[in-house]
Amino acid sequence: MTSLDTGVKNVRNVGRFTIGEGSVSGVADLVNSQRTKASPNAVYLIDEFFENSNDVLNSLGMIAGDAKHFIKTAKEPTTQGIDDLVVALQSSGHKQPATIVGIGGGITLDTAKAVANLLTNGGKAADYQGWDLVRVPGVHKIGIPTISGTGAEATRTCVMTNLETGLKLGMNSDYTVFDHIILDPSLTSTVPRNQYFYTGMDAYIHCIEALAGSYRNAIGDAYSRETVNLCRNIFLSSDMMADARRSDLMVASYLGGCAIATSYVGIIHPFSAALSVVFGMHHCVANCVVLNAMSEFYPQAHSEFRKMIELQKVELPRGVCANLTDDLRQALIAATIKHEKPLTNALGTEFRATLTDARIISLFEKM
Ligand code: NAD
Ligand code: ZN
Repeated sequence: MTSLDTGVKNVRNVGRFTIGEGSVSGVADLVNSQRTKASPNAVYLIDEFFENSNDVLNSLGMIAGDAKHFIKTAKEPTTQGIDDLVVALQSSGHKQPATIVGIGGGITLDTAKAVANLLTNGGKAADYQGWDLVRVPGVHKIGIPTISGTGAEATRTCVMTNLETGLKLGMNSDYTVFDHIILDPSLTSTVPRNQYFYTGMDAYIHCIEALAGSYRNAIGDAYSRETVNLCRNIFLSSDMMADARRSDLMVASYLGGCAIATSYVGIIHPFSAALSVVFGMHHCVANCVVLNAMSEFYPQAHSEFRKMIELQKVELPRGVCANLTDDLRQALIAATIKHEKPLTNALGTEFRATLTDARIISLFEKM
């Protein structure tokens, strides 16, 4: 038995999806079908980018009495931030809304998932960081991604950091999965190019890590292979943001999310998580910074990544681990090696024989 024998036996996919250019216009009907006499109002959690986008806001079917919160994206979700939002909703009379609509990037989608679970389960967000701790189904929830790559629209987790303990872990639960998602590629046309690349590469990275691991299954592999094919098609094309490519990336993100829900990541995500925990760097850009330094472990993906980033003229932060102090070195090592499951998947249970303290630090110093 290894630490990987638990956790990936059951796979639950999203209840339903609607896909296609313009499909976001269907959200009003979907929300209305959830409204009841007892719960007439919905909650809308909207990425702050759309605060002044009247076209998008008007298409969401909001009525008087619905709650609307714009989600800030400067920082990734914290357990405290989720708790505060739950209290705000409860105090404004939205204890049992008809549905929660999350529209935005991974931060907003994860916030919607966490809030939906907490409204019905009670307690604090930190109580549910882990596997299968959510006791009862959350409020009905609809996810509408507006940037593609993380697969947050497909997975059974919602990533949150507990700033008190430093734990960055989601509520991994069947109840965290969206009841309905709407995949409308017209929503991603406004994403800034660098951000589009970083987030899109999360789908590629999830799948090259899964395919290089030792804990595999046929369905996860099939999802992963198609995700990687789509990503090559997108990022090795002349314009990764052409209409057809944005549509492909929305599919790749969803399939990548399905892939990772049945398998594990590898070495890149643990290093990336350490950059997030120690320096507050966002998940997707951190992944790219790490892959850029991982030629020893993922030579083929590394050289493909270099081709993609040059072709798309994307800039990557450099020297992020320049001038490390002893304390920072220790913090980076600890935050990397605590991710035993993916490291075991990539390197076996004796992963510390390969990933010595000195090697970990020399990798960070290349970033
Ligand atoms: P994000 O939510 O971090 O947003 C990135 C930026 O893009 C923000 O500034 C946002 O306002 C902006 N944006 C979003 N849509 C836009 C649009 N259409 N036009 C212009 N700007 C737009 O995006 P992300 O990279 O998708 O999400 C990262 C988060 O996802 C992290 O918190 C990470 O931990 C989480 N994540 C979750 C899972 C999961 O399975 N639940 C998996 C991987 C990552
Ligand atoms: Zn990721």
